[in-house]
Amino acid sequence: MIFNQVELAPADPILGLTDAFKADPRAEKVNLGVGIYKDESGQTPILKSVKLAERKLLDTETSKSYLGIDGVQAYNSAVQTLLFGAEHTVIEAGRAVTAQAPGGTGSLRVAAEFVVRNTDSRTIWVSNPTWANHNNIFESAKLSVKQYRYYDAATHGMDFDAMLADLDGAVAGDLVLLHGCCHNPTGIDLNLAQWEVIAQLCLEKELVPLFDFAYQGFGAGVEEDAQGLRVVANVVPELIVANSFSKNFGLYNERIGAVTVVAKCRETAEIAFSQVKSTIRGNYSNPPAHGALIVATILADGTLRTLWESELQQMRERIAQMRVLFVEMLKAEGVEQDFSFISTQNGMFSFSGLNKAQVGRLRDEFGIYIVGSGRISVAGMTKDNMPIICKAIAKVV
Ligand code: PMP
Repeated sequence: MIFNQVELAPADPILGLTDAFKADPRAEKVNLGVGIYKDESGQTPILKSVKLAERKLLDTETSKSYLGIDGVQAYNSAVQTLLFGAEHTVIEAGRAVTAQAPGGTGSLRVAAEFVVRNTDSRTIWVSNPTWANHNNIFESAKLSVKQYRYYDAATHGMDFDAMLADLDGAVAGDLVLLHGCCHNPTGIDLNLAQWEVIAQLCLEKELVPLFDFAYQGFGAGVEEDAQGLRVVANVVPELIVANSFSKNFGLYNERIGAVTVVAKCRETAEIAFSQVKSTIRGNYSNPPAHGALIVATILADGTLRTLWESELQQMRERIAQMRVLFVEMLKAEGVEQDFSFISTQNGMFSFSGLNKAQVGRLRDEFGIYIVGSGRISVAGMTKDNMPIICKAIAKVV
């Protein structure tokens, strides 16, 4: 007997919250924990562009035979164009190789394991704070995780000098995790000038950027949100991107993302790709098809692509409106503390500055669930639940 040696795992900080929310019998409860987009009626609908692509697939798909280890070819090349733009030198020079992978999480895990299995690199630097699952993913792949400062609690803004000071302690070959846009959990992103500085720092210190790009299109737009990545890709010889279409195509449960390795030349990229595929083969052999076929279908069809971009714009704009309404309504509820910084943050999340005790009271007394760090999923706010949320916050601050 061996299972009696197993210790109970702690509940996941984000998904565990959803379990607690589901078990809560109160009618007026609100879940602002997990990062899932909700429309104004509180639903997470399937995008129209996705439904149309699925219909098309239903008619045209002829086989459920295995995909290759790296997935759907048309999907992989569409991913590269979305990340770097159509004529970027890393694509033209054959320096970028892409393998479809199960979601952003699967892509990050494949990336980390590929590095550990094939290089001397053993350290990854992540921002403090960062998405709660990063530690788990990287430690599972046997990387050691170090933190660089990122957030300045006093200003609710970025502490760029501290970020640079901490990354100065990184050594050649270390990985640096960078959120491509819509930083989770703070909603605070680097500006273009800061991206240039990070690109030079990685070049000079020979650090390898690992971009976690889970929210392309949720910040300023599909192209705009990729600018930081492109600035860095213009400068450094090597980088990795783990991207996800869970949010921007609403394909959460299809588990669709990709890992892209950019190497200094075509030959090195191809050798790296052989090992990325070997890593995948040892994990799940080859990826599921449906999500990739949906994304590839939409991106290859002018009408569907235009529809998708407009649906993405609607999601982005609704969240931006909720940020403004949240700040206004808190004021109207008589909250004196300044929350105006929330309307300038990007993406689904807001780092509210609410402390653990306040977060606990919101849950226990008012049925409002947010992550212990004070991260609020603005994407879960609606005109209907906003008064409930703001009245409760007014009582705890
Ligand atoms: N990275 C970040 C920063 C995320 O917020 C998320 C999703 N919460 C992911 C990666 C993982 O995305 P997926 O669901 O596609 O695995």
